[in-house]
Parts: sequence; structure tokens; C-alpha cells
Amino acid sequence: MRAIIFASPALLTGVAFAQDHRQLGSHIHGSGSLDIAIEGDHIALALEAPAFDVVGFETEATSEAQREAIDRAREYLSDPLDLWGITESAGCGVETNDVSLMQSHDSHSDSDDHAHDEEHDHGHEHEHEDDHDDDHDHVDEHEEAVHSSVAANVELHCEQIGNLTTLEPVYFEHFANAEELAVRIVSDSGQATVEISRDRPSISLP
Ligand SMILES: [Zn+2]
Repeated sequence: MRAIIFASPALLTGVAFAQDHRQLGSHIHGSGSLDIAIEGDHIALALEAPAFDVVGFETEATSEAQREAIDRAREYLSDPLDLWGITESAGCGVETNDVSLMQSHDSHSDSDDHAHDEEHDHGHEHEHEDDHDDDHDHVDEHEEAVHSSVAANVELHCEQIGNLTTLEPVYFEHFANAEELAVRIVSDSGQATVEISRDRPSISLP
């Protein structure tokens, strides 16, 4: 009996961790990435983010409001000079811009099922002594959830790329659910990584 009492806190911790992990899937809502590559007078910016951040949902759009949200997101992503705060003095023009909304992640279900099985094993071992049924129902709803991503790849050509020292993205202003972007910058002068957020959205370029 003592062993069971001792085991309970660990079990609860394990379940809580498993839930967090599964709800997040392989992406974390609120958190995306931006890869920046600078070469000569070209700069490429590749955004990848949960659709939740950019559109507000990750399922197929079924309502008029959801379709409008997708149109709005596409509009913002189609103006990369504004989105990423590219200073006018750099004289940049858009060469290519590929926007892809609502790419669903089928791969999530594998890891979800795995975690689900593990959790049920734990549940059965201890099912005489706890009341986790509510938690399990809750978890099952999340496992039905679809995860989708948004990707936007833009290439700019800049006449005065030397004037491009800082980016002032309006990404967080446009997309209310976005909280942070992990930024990786690759240029002739090396690599850098920086985390930008709603509070600190600026990016200094090398
Ligand atoms: Zn998701």
C-alpha cells in the first residue's frame, strides 16, 4: 500500500507531462521559426508556423469566418516587405513568394497513438486507486485534433542591402496567436540564432 501511495505523485507527473507533450504535437502553438539567408544582394526568409498562430485554427475551414481568416492571413503573408519590416532604403523587391496555408500533419497521429498507449498502460496498473477517467476523456478529444502548419518562403533582391541592418517584423501585430519565432540567420559572416517575441520583435542582421 505504501508503495502505491508513493507511486501516485510520480504517475500524476508522468500523465501531466504526457498530456502537454501530446497537445503540442511536433509543433508548439504560439511558436514558429524563421530562417533568414543573406547572400550577396539577396535575402531569403522562410517562415514556418503552426496554422493556429497565423490563421487561428488548424482544421479545414468550414465557416465563412474561417475562410475570411485564411484570406486575411494570405494577404498579410503576400506582403513580405511589410510583414518582415524591410526598410524602404534597402530598395528590396520581391523575386518569389510561396505561401502555403494549412498543410496538415498526418505524422502527428503516430506519436499520439504511442503516447496514448503508454498512458493507458499506466492507467490500468493503477485504475483501482485513482479517478483519471475525466483526464482520459479530455485527452481523447485532443487526439482527434488536426495539426496544420503555415509556410511562407520569400526571396528578395535588394539594391542597397547594406542598408538592411534591422528587420522590424509586424508578424506579431498581424497574428494575434503568435508568441515567438526562433530565428536563424545565415550570411557570409556566419550564423546566428535569436528568439524574437511579441515584446521584442526586432531582428538585427549581421
Ligand atoms: Zn497544432
